[in-house]
Parts: sequence; C-alpha cells; structure tokens
Amino acid sequence: AWFADPALRSVLALLNSDGGEGRVAGGAVRNSLMGLPVADVDIATTLRPDVVVERAKAAGIKAVPTGIEHGTVTLVIDGKPFEVTTLRRDVSTDGRHADVAFGTDWQTDAERRDLTINALYATADGTVIDLVNGLPDIESRTVRFIGDAATRIAEDHLRILRFFRFFALYGSGRPDADGLRACARAKGSLGKLSAERVWSETKKLLAAPDPGRALLWMRQAGVLTEILPETEKWGIDAIPGLIEAEKAFGWTPDALLRLAAMVPADRERLKAMAERLRLSKAEAATMDYCASAPEIAPKLAETAFDRLLYRHGQQGLTMRVKLALASARARGLGDPEALAFAGLCQRLLARAQKWQKPSFPLNGADVLASGIPAGPKVGSLLGVIEDEWVAGNFHDGRAKLLARLEALAKEG
Ligand code: ATP
Ligand code: MG
Repeated sequence: AWFADPALRSVLALLNSDGGEGRVAGGAVRNSLMGLPVADVDIATTLRPDVVVERAKAAGIKAVPTGIEHGTVTLVIDGKPFEVTTLRRDVSTDGRHADVAFGTDWQTDAERRDLTINALYATADGTVIDLVNGLPDIESRTVRFIGDAATRIAEDHLRILRFFRFFALYGSGRPDADGLRACARAKGSLGKLSAERVWSETKKLLAAPDPGRALLWMRQAGVLTEILPETEKWGIDAIPGLIEAEKAFGWTPDALLRLAAMVPADRERLKAMAERLRLSKAEAATMDYCASAPEIAPKLAETAFDRLLYRHGQQGLTMRVKLALASARARGLGDPEALAFAGLCQRLLARAQKWQKPSFPLNGADVLASGIPAGPKVGSLLGVIEDEWVAGNFHDGRAKLLARLEALAKEG
C-alpha cells in the first residue's frame, strides 16, 4: 500500500525522466520485504541535488535542502516528507566521518551502505534490485555487513552499534559470526566516535521492541561495557524480566527505563554517564530522578509510598516501581513472597500514576505573620511543620497547621 501512495508515485515520476532515475532505498524496501510497517521512505537518485531542487520547484513541490552537503533534499508532498539522496561514493574516511562524492553508479552506492538488508532498491515499477546479495539475508533474517566486516567497521566505527541495533530489530538466531568477531575486535574504536552519534544509536537500540538478545551479544563481545562501563556490575540480567513486564502490562518500551535496569542507582555515576554520552537535559534528569528515588521496600505501606512520592516525585518512583515489579515477576515463579511483592508493586504503580502532589498549605508569609523575624528560622520552622504534615499523610488543613505554627513560634 505504501508503494502505491500517490505522493511517492509523483516523487519517483519527477526523478525518472530526462535521463534521471530514482529508486526507493534502504529501510523502506527492507521492511516491506519483511512484511513490517514502513515508516519513512528514503529515495536514492542519480540526479544531483540542485537538479532535484530545480525539478521539484518546476513541479510546484516543496523542496527543503535538509542535508544538501550530503546530497539530501527533502521533498514534501501532501505533508509527507521524502528524503531524496543523490548516489554517493566514498572518497576517504577517518572512521568517524566519510568524505563522499556524488556518483551515478548504483552498485557503488549499494556497496557503501552498511548491511546487506539495508542496501536493496525498489524501482518505480516495483522491481526489487539486489546488488549485494541481500535478498537471501532478508529471507533468513541475517544481519550481515556488505563486504569485509573489519574493513567496513574501520570506515565507520558506528557500524558496530548499527550491527547490533539491526540485529535487535530484524535478526534471528545468532548474529553473523564474521560480523560479531569484527565488532568484538574493533570495540576499542568506539571511543573515537562523537558522543552524540554513540548515544543516538544506543538509544535506538535500547528502544527496539526486544533488545535483549542484541544486548547479550554486545556484552559477550565486550561492546556493551565499552560504551556503558556502568553496566559492568549489573549486566543485562534484569532486561528479559523487564521486557516480559512491558508486554504483560502494556508499558511502552522506554529506552531510559531499560538503561536504568542495567546501571547502578548511583547519582554521581549516572551524572558522569549523562555528561560523557551527552544525554539531553531531560534524559539526564530522568536518570537522576530514578537514581535518587529510594528502592521499594518489600512491605512498603501505601501511605508511606505517598510520602515517598511527595519527596522524590512521580517520575523517578514510577521507574523504580516498574523495575521492582519486573524483577519480582521474574523471580515470582514458585516464590510466593516475590509474587506478593509484585502484587504490591502493581498497586503502587497505579497509585503513582494517579498521584497529584498536594501543596503544602503554609508559606513563609504565614511564618512572618506569626511574629518570627525574617531569617533562617523562617525556613527551618516551615520545614519542621511540613515534615509533620507529610508524616501525617497530608491530612492536616491550613487552620490546624497555623495553630501548630503559633505554638512553635511561642516556644521560640
Ligand atoms: P530506520 O530509519 O528504520 O532506522 P534505515 O535503514 O532507514 O532504518 P537509516 O539510519 O535511516 O536506517 O539509514 C538509511 C540507510 O542509509 C540505511 O538503510 C543504510 O543503507 C544507509 N546507512 C545509514 N547509516 C549508515 C552508515 N553508518 N554506514 C553505511 N550505511 C549507512
Ligand atoms: Mg531511515
């Protein structure tokens, strides 16, 4: 159905005239051959980017030069973006970025792609063109480098992570042995990549429906600790249970929760990790909320949990409860205590999800009005009353708290 899309038809028609050619390339062809949904459609063309822009303008199609230096122009039709990229050949590479030149040769363009399953094309009439022997790999779900694995990794070290990501998403059985060996040997070169590229690729891997097997092989190959030394101690033991719980409870796959399941709840270490990998501010904050929220105790009372929610916030505690629930479920088979704990966690999770932080009914002005002079005493007194109020599970109203303030103020 995606191939019959009139918007796509008109992009291909635009490119396939006057000696030019355009083909659907990469992920869209791969996914459709595997019977998987096609997200975005990338197109490769023999036409130079300026010619693509010219033709689009002449046809009244919006053209955005999203990556003109790499030869990419995004054509927008009916609000749908199509990335049109001129065929390329590599001129030189330092393993981090490649110098590319535009080309017109499909074979060369195919061979500079990373994996055989990612290098198929579909022409405008729907014919699949396989220049790298990718079709058998699509069939057997084999994730394989095009050409010599070690050479391809030396050209771009990020391909190590892409190998495992695509294995997580599309591979079956064991990873290709040559590829795996080459990744293990080259793992030291990951440190030369920019943190942004590493984190963006790692995040995609962690967000795969089930990254469990890929993580296992990454750990085996020494690749995981290379990019995430924080996982050294815990490893990936918690991952299968977490994936199971996600499925059982319908939680959306969450790369950061999966990461949290692999690293110690150590704020300092995670802060350093966030800086090293250049996590976004929001991502770093999420990891910090999770690390700073306390571990869920086996017989935690729901009222005590509310107090934790007040102190540590909903986001971090929700993550903690999910991790505790997943691990209790994993232990649960034949362990009645773990099962009971899992039940408790489920109730806590529901509680966390509908939690609305109550607002403390007093403020500094109330303290000043009680006759306490401005100064550090104001804050500390307020803190004492707030602690009592939290300990009483937010029960006391303003009038009662004002009376308490009055009493404490008199005591001096
Ligand atoms: P998806 O977008 O679904 O994650 P995709 O296959 O489209 O998968 P992209 O990362 O969007 O993956 O890249 C598009 C295509 O460009 C790939 O299919 C591959 O052929 C090629 N490619 C991308 N990155 C590299 C790389 N580092 N080395 C070689 N080829 C690459
Ligand atoms: Mg893509």
